[in-house]
Amino acid sequence: MEEQQQIENTIIEERYRKPDGETGFRRYQKGKILGKGGFAKCYEVTSIESKKVLAAKIIAKSTLKKGRTKAKLITEIKLHKSLHHQNIVQFEDVFEDNENVYILLELCQNQTLNELLKRRRRISQIEVQCYLKQLIGALKYIHSHRVLHRDLKLGNLFINDKMELKLGDFGLATKLDYDGQRRYTICGTPNYIAPEILEERMGHSYQADIWSVGVIIYTLLIGKPPFETSDVKTTYNKISQCQFNFPDHIQISENAKNLISRILVLDPSKRLTLDEILSHPFMTSNPIPKTTHISQLISPPTAA
Ligand code: ADP
Repeated sequence: MEEQQQIENTIIEERYRKPDGETGFRRYQKGKILGKGGFAKCYEVTSIESKKVLAAKIIAKSTLKKGRTKAKLITEIKLHKSLHHQNIVQFEDVFEDNENVYILLELCQNQTLNELLKRRRRISQIEVQCYLKQLIGALKYIHSHRVLHRDLKLGNLFINDKMELKLGDFGLATKLDYDGQRRYTICGTPNYIAPEILEERMGHSYQADIWSVGVIIYTLLIGKPPFETSDVKTTYNKISQCQFNFPDHIQISENAKNLISRILVLDPSKRLTLDEILSHPFMTSNPIPKTTHISQLISPPTAA
């Protein structure tokens, strides 16, 4: 308890030097822990000067000894810093001291779609439409800047206090030098990974992110990922054969089935594009609210 108290009272100090040589510092009060990732611990922090509340990803420098890990963090920072969009977690600042690297991010108070789905089991079509519209907006933006996210999954789709969806975690993102370029590194999260990423020599590009969007839509509507099995190898086999089906006991619309089936297509060139997803009947057959309601974090929308 005492230790906890101590952690929560820590002040993080950022010393800076402006281009004109002027120096100063900003201070942040460390608050509650928001979560732990592979390398980072994430805390709520409050700026002492502006009172602004942010999320701080704290990465111990001792974990950055491998050159590759360090290079990845530098890429993540460089890419994320360059992105500005209403549906992307805003990158606020980065600084370091002897022990840690601190990345300050826009705070997303309402966790991610992963926790939301665990509470709700599955969500309704109107909610999926609403989150999907925001996600596609973020993806159109990053793709137009030649950035691939490469780790789209429910746990990287954050929700802020206004219930806006914010795409985050650019740890596996990459920027292409030109549009037709392909990447060959195997990366991603097993359930969401596109078949062309597994087929290493094919290379992958923007369409690999769109595959993961198909997995996300299916998972939100059905309640479990389409290629999930108890071991990764079997999951990869199912992905490579695009082997999934819609369980009989869960009712979803024909539009939803058609949309998913036209995104989860093995040949990346035959997969729907982001604009085609937006103009698919699944997205156009009814008006879509700008955000979902806060009550929908824990219970389904009530019928109007
Ligand atoms: P990972 O290593 O799992 O990709 P991160 O290191 O990015 O995760 O973050 C660790 C955890 O901190 C996340 O799982 C999430 O719970 C929380 N987190 C990350 N960014 C934010 C944010 N902007 N707002 C609120 N919580 C966040």
